[in-house]
Amino acid sequence: MKRIFNFSAGPAMLPLEVLKQVQSELLDCQNSGMSILEVSHRSKVYEKVNSEAEQDIKDLLGLDDSWCVLFLGGGASLQFTMVPMNFLPEGKVGVYADTSSFSAKAVKEAAKVGETKVIFSSKADKYNRVPKLSELTLPENAAYLHITGNNTIEGTEYKDYPDTGAVPLIADLSSDILSKPIPTDKFSLIFAGAQKNIGPGGVVVVIAKKDFIKGRSTTLPTMLNYEVHMDNNSLYNTPPVFGVYIVGLVAKWLKAQGGLKVMAQRNEAKAKVVYDVIDAHPEFYRGFAERDSRSLMNVTFGLPTTELEAQFVAEATAIGLNGLKGHRSVGGLRASIYNAMPHMGCVQLAAFMEGFWYKNK
Ligand SMILES: *Cc1c(COP(=O)(O)O)cnc(C)c1O
Repeated sequence: MKRIFNFSAGPAMLPLEVLKQVQSELLDCQNSGMSILEVSHRSKVYEKVNSEAEQDIKDLLGLDDSWCVLFLGGGASLQFTMVPMNFLPEGKVGVYADTSSFSAKAVKEAAKVGETKVIFSSKADKYNRVPKLSELTLPENAAYLHITGNNTIEGTEYKDYPDTGAVPLIADLSSDILSKPIPTDKFSLIFAGAQKNIGPGGVVVVIAKKDFIKGRSTTLPTMLNYEVHMDNNSLYNTPPVFGVYIVGLVAKWLKAQGGLKVMAQRNEAKAKVVYDVIDAHPEFYRGFAERDSRSLMNVTFGLPTTELEAQFVAEATAIGLNGLKGHRSVGGLRASIYNAMPHMGCVQLAAFMEGFWYKNK
């Protein structure tokens, strides 16, 4: 068996220990005589998976019982619709900080539901930064502020989060969920597609204050109503069982690593290894994000020519460093270095980058 370092943006690497556990339990999950793929979502086996995954995520984030953790389908993209459907009543404005193509998609969906306002946009600069907190001024009738915590395609990330007072803060943390501690008291609802940092495609984790979700319009389509999912412990219908199971294993793995503080230290150290090469040769490796906005999860950069970029990808792939091509919408190169990317992966990438610079400068 030969495992590569997969720098793909998502679905992305999972911890090897987790994959091995999945493999070892696949034919007989917890002495049930069945695989997790075959058990009923109403069974004791799955009930335990579901409740432990919920509790472990709460433990990692330090959340008490006033919070719920939901496991839903539809991708993070369906959250762009569910958020305004649940929280944007007539007469109020859904407020957005436009820091990426995913923020723009969120605005687009919300505008189909109600009134929206974009109070910050870095689009004119190709989304090369997130706002300073002083740039976020809320209008009076704000229903919520929606931010994209980590901008997967462009490689920018919030380091601090705004204090929105009585206005609920909603965050799309799809690509940096559980990569570092966050001040959860500032948020009302967080959502994340699991496939970047904490699991496979097909499951979305929603972390919300119960009081925020309670008491929403009963005319909402059932499956799009957060309260229904909360009241049914994510078991209103058949949940993405296999995905939740893996998210649960990843949460246990994160706890075993020492929790989110330890992960943040590791992620900072990993990102530094790569950014240091970019900063050492800025005329060759052209970092895309403004320094203050740099993401610890997605390192984005370009080379002097697209031919060199293609050559970079080909040579890296040949030595087991995969998935370094930038998103089709922006081009360039991108190294996604989520929780499960080992430090050694970043060290090997940095060494390759030094060599590539030396040969092609
Ligand atoms: C990947 C991603 C999405 C979209 O996720 P899907 O699960 O594919 O719908 C949304 N927001 C961010 C920040 C992402 O990285």
